[in-house]
Amino acid sequence: MHYNINWFENRVKLTPNAIAVIDSDTNESWTYEQLQHRVTKMGNYFQMHDVQKGDRVAVLAPNHISYFDFFFAAMKIGAIFVPLNWRLSEEELKYLIQDAEPKIIGVAPSFMEKINNLSTNASLINISHNQYINHLQVKQISVNTILNEEDPLVMIYTGGTTGKPKGVILSHRSILWNALNTIISWELSSDDITITCLPMSHTGGLNVYTLPLLLVGGTVVIASEFHAEKATRDLVKYKCTVVLFVPTMYHMMIQTNAFKQSTFPDMKVFVSGGAPCPLKIYKEFAKKGLKFKEGYGLTEAGPNNFYIDPSDVGTKLGSVGKPMLFNDIQIINENGKEVRTNEVGELLIRGNHAFEYYWNKHEETKKTIANGWIHTGDLARKDQDGYVYIVGRKKDMIITGGENVYPLEIEQWLEAHSNIDEAAVTGLPDEKWGEVVTAFVVLKDPMTEAELEAYCNQKLTRYKVPKKFFIIAELPKTPIGKINKIELQKMKV
Ligand code: ATP
Repeated sequence: MHYNINWFENRVKLTPNAIAVIDSDTNESWTYEQLQHRVTKMGNYFQMHDVQKGDRVAVLAPNHISYFDFFFAAMKIGAIFVPLNWRLSEEELKYLIQDAEPKIIGVAPSFMEKINNLSTNASLINISHNQYINHLQVKQISVNTILNEEDPLVMIYTGGTTGKPKGVILSHRSILWNALNTIISWELSSDDITITCLPMSHTGGLNVYTLPLLLVGGTVVIASEFHAEKATRDLVKYKCTVVLFVPTMYHMMIQTNAFKQSTFPDMKVFVSGGAPCPLKIYKEFAKKGLKFKEGYGLTEAGPNNFYIDPSDVGTKLGSVGKPMLFNDIQIINENGKEVRTNEVGELLIRGNHAFEYYWNKHEETKKTIANGWIHTGDLARKDQDGYVYIVGRKKDMIITGGENVYPLEIEQWLEAHSNIDEAAVTGLPDEKWGEVVTAFVVLKDPMTEAELEAYCNQKLTRYKVPKKFFIIAELPKTPIGKINKIELQKMKV
């Protein structure tokens, strides 16, 4: 079978004059055709610099139009687009750049010094403003690369929540099928508009809504950073219809004046993803009569995997929904057998949106994909109606005195308390119990450990009640805003 895997070129032919991207910092916008001109120029520039099929081209910048210039030019010539997380430390970036060995890096001016300190061999393009592309010296070069569906298109580094970041290789096929799956299952159309405040170096910023909307002819508003008040106002200003934020962002958003004052008339649904969402956030949206749902995903699988029937939004609280149309799932026990209804097991995912391999990590790849199934490392259960609930990460499960404890259940109960702002539960090593359930809480007003324990006793079985409580000012978070349990365990409180 042969088809033009460069879907962007075909999209431009269909809707040349529709607005593809708006930069919310400068209010500049680009139609699909205008974006195409930039992409052609960037593709030619890459070729003049001898970028061949399979070579890496990276961007180190807060969200910016250059992400699209680089991504679609990579799609055209067969290069691998590597978006780098600008929030990483110099040492972490050094690791990623040594691992990816990009030939060209597009760099925001504020990161030039950092990148120069890393003494990379890559050619650097200063993406000082949105019109930087006009100043690139370019010669017209024709493209004659033959591309296949399974050729790599993007390498996204995982969040590093459970260890060192891994470079996840997504092929042309994975990117396309994640987008198709999303468009069909979430019923997206060319009328849809999103704002992308999540970093596009993360799969959430790139693949949840951004690329699916550009495939279907919609509009993507980009913001270089997330400022809760501005982002909330921008949702209204740009008439956004759909959005993805991580729970930490929603946590900030619900406290803004803009949230309290707005009715969000154009918003069809607010999606939370990337980490478990506290139920009190759901409630704030329900109070305003707004649709709010939890998404679940991982870089290696799309990341979009589930959908919730619009009529069930709000009824299956805490569920991520049912598998999307082109997505098989299984929940298995330790013996590899499917578990029964409501039993907890590891979630496996299979589909055309699956990643190809981890860059330079052959052994890790073999551990993660077997017979086409991605072993997500996450624990889940399915209810009698086929709705899936994420129970937590396998690595986070605590075994105390031989009993399995899932931190999420305890975290949700703690966060349901009106005086507890945030909570994280982990297992700390213990001679007698193996591990002891330990809670870290951020409080609004003072509370004693005894009060916290009494509150837990109201609902939780004895062995689930934390044996230790630590009251701290702030939970450690990863650059994307997830609770960093590795750091938490290291905290010698
Ligand atoms: P690393 O793989 O390097 O440790 P990471 O797991 O944070 O980093 P991502 O691909 O960004 O990398 O995150 C995917 C993970 O996020 C999932 O495997 C899951 O554990 C968690 N996650 C995503 N959405 C949800 C959700 N709705 N509820 C609970 N957990 C979620």
